[in-house]
Amino acid sequence: MTTFEYAPAPESVRPHLRERYGLFIDGAWQAAQDGRTFETIDPATEARLAEIAYASAADVDRAVRAARKGYEKYWRKLKPADRAKYIFRIARAITERGRELAVLETMDGGTPIKESRDFDIPTAAAHFFYYAGWADKLEWAMRAGRTPEPLGVCGAIVPWNFPLLMAAWKIAPALACGNTVVLKPAETTPLTALALAQIVQEADLPPGVVNVIPGDGATGAALVEHGGCDKIAFTGSTEVGKTIARRLAGSGTRLTLELGGKAAHIVFADAPLDQAIEGVVNGIYFNQGHVCCAGSRLLVEERVHDEVVARLTERIATLRLGDPLDKNTDIGAINSRAQLEKIDELVRSGIADGAELVQQPCTLPERGFFFPASFFTGVQQSHRIAREEIFGPVLSILTFRTPDEAIEKANNTPYGLSAGIWTDTGSKNMWVAQALRAGVVWCNTFNQFDPASPFGGYRESGFGREGGVHGLYEYLAG
Ligand code: NAP
Ligand code: MG
Repeated sequence: MTTFEYAPAPESVRPHLRERYGLFIDGAWQAAQDGRTFETIDPATEARLAEIAYASAADVDRAVRAARKGYEKYWRKLKPADRAKYIFRIARAITERGRELAVLETMDGGTPIKESRDFDIPTAAAHFFYYAGWADKLEWAMRAGRTPEPLGVCGAIVPWNFPLLMAAWKIAPALACGNTVVLKPAETTPLTALALAQIVQEADLPPGVVNVIPGDGATGAALVEHGGCDKIAFTGSTEVGKTIARRLAGSGTRLTLELGGKAAHIVFADAPLDQAIEGVVNGIYFNQGHVCCAGSRLLVEERVHDEVVARLTERIATLRLGDPLDKNTDIGAINSRAQLEKIDELVRSGIADGAELVQQPCTLPERGFFFPASFFTGVQQSHRIAREEIFGPVLSILTFRTPDEAIEKANNTPYGLSAGIWTDTGSKNMWVAQALRAGVVWCNTFNQFDPASPFGGYRESGFGREGGVHGLYEYLAG
């Protein structure tokens, strides 16, 4: 098969990066109380991007107090329609600065520019637009006779795979419902959260309504431990989610957890295979597989297994891996060295267990963290690669003979975030979808997101919903 060589097409915009960033507390940039800082790097080059103030427990305390003051003094007293104006302003600013934010997201986290530009940033803006519209219509979201009341101060802790989008998922509904926020971005990707703080400042939000405190896991833990938040909204690993749930049990603090996943992606023999292959590729290789709802367990009907494997082998050979800032890049950088090591370790376990590894033929860049698009055939349910979340561009392929077997295998996981089904039979799509225990089931498509549509998990994938009218309930009392 011939493939085309693409000339480099690097994104030319370079965002204005400050040398140093402070903490954004009470509407102002502040140094950490103990002066501690950390660096964020570009995972594609390992180059240092900026030095960031590190929030320790004393700074967390200042931020939570500022959020409390912002809540009591300003935000809860504002007319809902006025809250909406501020949120619309944030949405517009994200849209206006979309290109710069996309570049920033790509530089800090390694996601390909075509994805940050066409998905992360526009979807983040869409969430602010959507929830701005709800701010003065909350009674319509409530059951009859109930009055919409905010919760108060919300602590938001987000991971590194979709930094700005995960922040938007939490901040937009929180603000619309009249709450104030303390946001803790992930250690490796603080830059778009800090850009959002600049936007919040330029949009002239009252002080303390949104606070951004970069740091690491200890900062997140300090926010949970603080006790001054009325709600914690967490997106991240199941392990940390469980720790937070244990810590907050019985405290009366509201909690939502968006955790890991190991989604089944089911391909029936009667599926339109051309489209299904594209769906499978999108399902696992989007954002290098750093996706909680990635279709990471492919269940293929035995009759078409060999054909699917042959087509997938051909297809991944055409994926372009490399500079995330190049507009032609499909597979960007792995977010961190630690994540690359985790992927590597799980892939080695797959080989040791006897599964067969297929990888895209490519040369990895000399610097930076990269892993080729990969899949395993001959995977057994008992293999770690079939059970554990890899969170990288690695697909595990299993087979089934009957729909019942597909359903049983799909549900044989402690997770339940998402699933996908490919079949030409409409009724099969419906009843299989009903039998799958997953928060989102995509039929003949994958990775579709809309702010009006709720997203969230079952079992070890967490509880609570983000997005849509359901997402409002998580930020309202009663
Ligand atoms: P993680 O280690 O749980 O980190 C998530 C966030 O929590 C980060 O900001 C992290 O800070 C912070 N944190 C770490 N330890 C903490 C503690 N003890 N207390 C409070 N906060 C703490 O997860 P990750 O490995 O970065 O992210 C990947 C995971 O997120 C995957 O499992 C993925 O499936 C999940 N995820 C789920 C969804 C969803 O919607 N369900 C969406 C995206 C990702 P530092 O990063 O600074 O250490
Ligand atoms: Mg970084």
